Amino acid sequence: MTARLVDVALPLPLFRAFTYAVPDGLRHAVEPGARVVVPFRNRTAIGIVLGASTAVLAEGVVAKDIIDVPDERTAFRPDLLAVGRWMADYYVSPVGMVLRAALPAALGRASRAEPGIKTQRVLRLTQELETLLQRDALFKRAPQQRALYELLESLGGQSAVQHLIERLGCTEGVVKALVKRGVATVVLEPVDRDPFLSRPAPAPKVVTPSDAQRDAIAALKDGAPGDTFLLHGITGSGKTLVYIEFLRHVLHERGQSAIVLVPEIALTPQTVDRFRAVFGDQVAVLHSGLGDGERYDAWRALQRGDKRIAIGARSAVFAPLEKLGAIVVDEEHESTYKQGEAPRYHAREVAIVRAREAGAVVVLGSATPSLESWVNAKSGKYHLLSLPDRVGGGALPKVNIVDLRTEVGAGAPPQVRALRSILSAPLEAALHERLARNEQSLLLLNRRGFANFVTCPDGHVVACPNCAISLTYHRAPERMICHYCQHTETLQVTCGVCGAENMKQRGVGTQQVERLLNERFPSARVSRMDVDTTTGKWAHTEILDRVGRGEVDILLGTQMIAKGLDFPNVTLVGVIDADIGINLPDFRSSERTFQLLSQVAGRAGRGPKGGEVFIQTRTPGHHAVQCAVEHDFLRFVSEELPGRESPPYPPTLRLANVVVSGLDELAVAACAQQAADWLGERIAKMDDAVTLVGPAPCPIERIQNRWRWHLVLKTSRAGSLTRLMRSFLTRFELPAAHEMRVMFDRDPVALL
Ligand code: ADP
Ligand code: ZN
Repeated sequence: MTARLVDVALPLPLFRAFTYAVPDGLRHAVEPGARVVVPFRNRTAIGIVLGASTAVLAEGVVAKDIIDVPDERTAFRPDLLAVGRWMADYYVSPVGMVLRAALPAALGRASRAEPGIKTQRVLRLTQELETLLQRDALFKRAPQQRALYELLESLGGQSAVQHLIERLGCTEGVVKALVKRGVATVVLEPVDRDPFLSRPAPAPKVVTPSDAQRDAIAALKDGAPGDTFLLHGITGSGKTLVYIEFLRHVLHERGQSAIVLVPEIALTPQTVDRFRAVFGDQVAVLHSGLGDGERYDAWRALQRGDKRIAIGARSAVFAPLEKLGAIVVDEEHESTYKQGEAPRYHAREVAIVRAREAGAVVVLGSATPSLESWVNAKSGKYHLLSLPDRVGGGALPKVNIVDLRTEVGAGAPPQVRALRSILSAPLEAALHERLARNEQSLLLLNRRGFANFVTCPDGHVVACPNCAISLTYHRAPERMICHYCQHTETLQVTCGVCGAENMKQRGVGTQQVERLLNERFPSARVSRMDVDTTTGKWAHTEILDRVGRGEVDILLGTQMIAKGLDFPNVTLVGVIDADIGINLPDFRSSERTFQLLSQVAGRAGRGPKGGEVFIQTRTPGHHAVQCAVEHDFLRFVSEELPGRESPPYPPTLRLANVVVSGLDELAVAACAQQAADWLGERIAKMDDAVTLVGPAPCPIERIQNRWRWHLVLKTSRAGSLTRLMRSFLTRFELPAAHEMRVMFDRDPVALL
């Protein structure tokens, strides 16, 4: 690029780029996508070059010079820069903020152009001694130096000093002496640190793909650049093998690279291990346990092409791989693919755009695809691939419903009723059977803490002072916690409203079930996995590894235990309360319940011993429960879709959520109304391209002391919504008082 003026995106909440001049003599070329250090308001900032500037500077205004171009390779290759621009446009987010979010933290700091890299001392040969005579002469009385010289030679002329000393069992003195003789030199080189590498990778299982797997692999190989495939495979149908065989082709036959997205690395160590078993050190695992420096190392290794597969959660979609051939999105229905803060992107959508830009193929995999993806596959926008059976002739587990309304005998004493509403007689008996046979069980309860809330007899619920939500009662240590803002207080013995003294706990949480299990099965090894037991970075993996080694009889947990686990000795799955979440005021609550129940049921019977599932519920007739019992995704779709047509919700059309929040309740309501009026006026001139619903208080009216109102926008024309929101977010004026804010969320995963 030879432009004298360039546009640079800076990480600021402003919808504009900044113009800088390109002076002579910069270290590296100023290319679109390059990181640059620029002066900005009396300090320096890191920006990204967008391209030659078309700005016309006003008379007398002189663009400031770029200070430095720190990287030899541009940070954003053309495909990634295009993805960044698409995201900025679609999610209506300043491009500088988007690009900043796509880079490792270490590359966004202006203070140091590159992060502190951990280095090691490397010994490198500088002189070749070709004949034995030369060696004899030089090392006459120094056999150790000769051995070091020859070892180094056999290792290709260079190796880490520490490694050499260990191999030879010699001292530093020998290294120094060799250097002093002038045949070698010590240099500092960066080390790649990846703690995942210290985790042993299992040996790859040798399996022959089934016919259905083979067909799917063949179809993927035939895919054209930019194609998206939806791989709908029931739980245990062997989706991972399909991904792996396709990637083998992409890497080894085509010499390309690949990205594998998983919902959460900590929860899917088994999936990650299977890729590592096959592709070894070609794999960079981008997990949340990495420090800034480690993340930077992994990023650089991918950029250099030293590693060719990036596995990670949603942000791995930005891995700086060249010649990208495939992007796999495993469990594509998971809501963790949506980023909860600006830019609020959905990694599945970004993956599809990136693949289009890079000429790669996308594979979306799930046993319970999102309705959006399913409709796209049915309309031909995506190619549909199916794995309808479990591999190896295995059957799906039989699912039994336990109707808690009749199961908990009306005439029984209160203690029995309390027990049986948590652990019904059939589920308890099934657990006993598994313990007797040394098989393992999973129990799902998607609610942490001991009791969901505490109330007085008159129904005054102990609530968070900062949020419109009840406090959850936790034991060990005993306290009340708000799950939204983490506000913590001691347990109240009297009602704060009416002074009543007999406070009651309501709604069971995982801690209470754990206590009950310990009482009922004193000899069983029970493990609990929820947010409270997994605060360490590797805590999830440790628990799951213990289950894999057979050291846990009953694993109890929240939705964390429902994802991707493949333990053949798990023959029983129990759902303590299927109704949690089914009545949330959100259009996706049925879909989420169906997905959760289907996924957790799918953990049972993955080995030759088969399996069984018990679902405890008070709404056995609900279609989310019924379809999970029958493992019938198609029926779920046919019952759920009509409900999304009127009033229309995705996938019938697209949504956006606009949340107005601030410290004063009335001011927030008024501001939301002004926003609605502002939008209503524009919408009236837009041919009904967009519909506005609201304003109304959000389902959770207050979080962290901020009152919240929202407006929902619906459209089937994406571009109209983009233009409307862009003008709203740049022109609508917020009142200065009460810390008023507007949040815009396109394609929200929930409207809470
Ligand atoms: P899914 O992700 O579809 O639920 P997985 O990919 O976890 O299923 O596969 C389930 C199990 O079946 C794994 O242990 C896997 O190693 C095994 N498996 C996959 N394909 C085959 C095959 N063709 N033959 C035998 N075992 C297989
Ligand atoms: Zn709170």
